[in-house]
This record gives sequence, structure tokens and C-alpha cells, in this order.
Amino acid sequence: MSDEQKIKCPICDSAEIRVLHNPALKRKSLSRSRAGGSVTLYSEESYEALEGCQKCGKTRDEIEKVLRGHEETKHPSRESILKRLRESGLPLKAKKEIEDK
Ligand SMILES: [Zn+2]
Repeated sequence: MSDEQKIKCPICDSAEIRVLHNPALKRKSLSRSRAGGSVTLYSEESYEALEGCQKCGKTRDEIEKVLRGHEETKHPSRESILKRLRESGLPLKAKKEIEDK
């Protein structure tokens, strides 16, 4: 389940941007054939940027690259970005879902 959040821009750490948070999911997909068993699908926790940053002028795409860890950043690391996002914007409900995993 995805939820929309407002977070501090990961690049300038100043303006707020809207992102879509996709918690890590583990779900079973049942095969319809008799021979097939069940397959467990995983999806990693991820963030999708919904808008660019008005403060530093980064586009939605650039911010999303940082959030997804596809872009090399000197600091902060992707882990610390995720950690900070968890601490800043995550509703308690979603936080509990992650801890229960
Ligand atoms: Zn920014």
C-alpha cells in the first residue's frame, strides 16, 4: 500500500516535496496451474517523487534518482536518506507495518 507524504528535499534539505512511499512488501502469488506452487514476491521499500523541489530547482526525476539510490551522492547515503524519511514523515501505522516484518 502506498501513501503520500511530505518530506524534506533529500538534496537541499530545505523545501518540502511530496513523495509516494511504497513500504516493503512480501506477498504470495498463487499459481493457477495445479503443478505450480506458490511464489513469494518481494518488493523493496521505495519512494517516488511526485514533484520537483522549488528551493534547489531539482526536477522530479533528479530527486527520484536520489531516493531510489540510482544516483551517486557524496552524502547523505541512501540509507541515511531512508532513515531520515522514516523519522520525519512516516505515519505511525506504516512504521509498525515495517517493524512487524
Ligand atoms: Zn531541494
